[in-house]
Amino acid sequence: RAHLQCPLDKDELGRATWSFLHTMAAYFPDNATKVQQKEMSAFMKIFAKYYPCEHCAKDFQVSIKESPPATVGREEFSLWLCKMHNEVNRKLGKPEFDCGRVDERWRDGWEDGTCDF
Ligand code: FAD
Repeated sequence: RAHLQCPLDKDELGRATWSFLHTMAAYFPDNATKVQQKEMSAFMKIFAKYYPCEHCAKDFQVSIKESPPATVGREEFSLWLCKMHNEVNRKLGKPEFDCGRVDERWRDGWEDGTCDF
């Protein structure tokens, strides 16, 4: 794309960030240790403070306060993040994502094989 060598705009930053966050959740340990749980919760809270889109960060901090990160394991964390993303989708008038398919999207590939090559 033409903008590949330029600073990210809000949407490009959003897509890149969600890709990172959902992939990180997809590979979080199934049964996280107490330390891992604490660290990931802290990471998300600090992330929400420094996300470089001021109004996005403000709203995300409020969302995290209302529903704190679920970090006991991969499944819970992936679902929590999906719900957080859906909250932003709703705010922006975008369609909601079916959280039952979060592993297909971010870890295993779609069941119809469209990710196989
Ligand atoms: P994105 O929303 O970026 O999603 C990328 C892909 O993720 C989609 O194509 C889909 O395959 C998948 N996906 C969609 N929903 C889910 C889900 N619930 N769970 C799992 N996977 C999903 N933009 C603003 O204009 N205002 C804001 O206040 C704002 N706040 C943001 C807060 C955060 C923390 C982040 C990371 C981004 C925020 N953004 C905000 C950016 C916004 O969410 C989108 O990234 C941007 O609008 C581009 O949207 P998109 O349609 O390309 O898909």
